[in-house]
Amino acid sequence: MQMQQLLVNGERLRNTIEAFADFGRTDQNGVTRLSLSEQDVLVRNYFRSCCEELGMTVKTDDMGNMYATLAGRESGPPVVIGSHLDTVKKGGRFDGVLGVIAGLEVARTLVDHGITPRLPVTVMNFTNEEGARFEPSMMASGVLSGKFDKAAMLQKKDPEGTTFEQALLASGYAGEAENRITEAAAYLELHIEQGPVLEREQLTIGLVDCVVGMACYEIEVTGESDHAGTTPMEMRKDALFAAADIITELRAKLGKLDSGLVYTMGRMNVLPNIHTVIPNKVIFTVEARHKDMDIVREVEAIINGLPEELLECTVHTSKLWGRDTVWFDPHICGLVEQAAVTLGYSRRTIASGAGHDAQFVAGFLPSAMIFVPSVNGKSHCEEELTSYADCEKGVNVVLETVLSVLRG
Ligand SMILES: [Zn+2]
Repeated sequence: MQMQQLLVNGERLRNTIEAFADFGRTDQNGVTRLSLSEQDVLVRNYFRSCCEELGMTVKTDDMGNMYATLAGRESGPPVVIGSHLDTVKKGGRFDGVLGVIAGLEVARTLVDHGITPRLPVTVMNFTNEEGARFEPSMMASGVLSGKFDKAAMLQKKDPEGTTFEQALLASGYAGEAENRITEAAAYLELHIEQGPVLEREQLTIGLVDCVVGMACYEIEVTGESDHAGTTPMEMRKDALFAAADIITELRAKLGKLDSGLVYTMGRMNVLPNIHTVIPNKVIFTVEARHKDMDIVREVEAIINGLPEELLECTVHTSKLWGRDTVWFDPHICGLVEQAAVTLGYSRRTIASGAGHDAQFVAGFLPSAMIFVPSVNGKSHCEEELTSYADCEKGVNVVLETVLSVLRG
């Protein structure tokens, strides 16, 4: 006899997404809910009450991360579903919160059907994923994974001068370090894609196999400032012309490396930035991302191979930072894929070009991420949109994956 497929309640999911969006909703139907702000505390209170209503136990750790746990028949490591409730300024109704609501809807569905899971099911909210109020982003998952130093993070200040520690204490969500998650049967994070690929290919589910590696460089070109009217062209040391040649060369070389490589020169300062003065200094960034670290290293070789002198200007290159590709757990990824197959949803493997808590969590828990399409690829803005139907399918994949982990 075939068991009936367990599915989440789509109408309730939709109402829950809108209920959470009421905390910090903007007049353009976006959300502003900076980490540990008044609206963040209110949405935390609401999340906690929703979980407690289901009979879940809610704890917080010393970074303010929340853990809502539905008890299992066995007391083994939990199946964890999580993401973040904070947003950027004028962000959307889906980024982060969808992954937390997914966990809540999974718990509600289990309770609806009178299912006591074999293992505990824990729904997590990570503090300050966005880094929009306190830098860096993914602060709390970074501390849990050992990537960031907790004492240093506590002293990070928002633009008003409030430290993270002060905001955490004021929020009432400062808990015990002993509540930190250290083991799990699986960590699952459902997230909007924040890019255009799934929509373009008319697919519903992104099976995220990794968060891509990247390297970010700063290039400083130094020339000489002279009068724009009186200095003959052949006597100039124009730092911007030299920078333009470097950018053209980088575009040509990086463009030949691999079709999956993305590269951006997103910041440029031109000095002195006066229209009657020849630029004497240009500082700009080059960052590149690819899942294959060999290609990232080829990018670095190209950048490091730039000439040290060009058009009478000196060129200095320095690496700002980089990260290696983080691969998700192949077994858990396999269960996610099988869940999408079982449910009959269209799907593809996809790499995450953006950072997520899961990339740090993957360092100590078997983790996987699931993407659902972003309309027009937009996120971190009020227009951010994922259809309720796609949200529902994403949460069904989470539920099905949780059930398969629970089956063991
Ligand atoms: Zn997010």
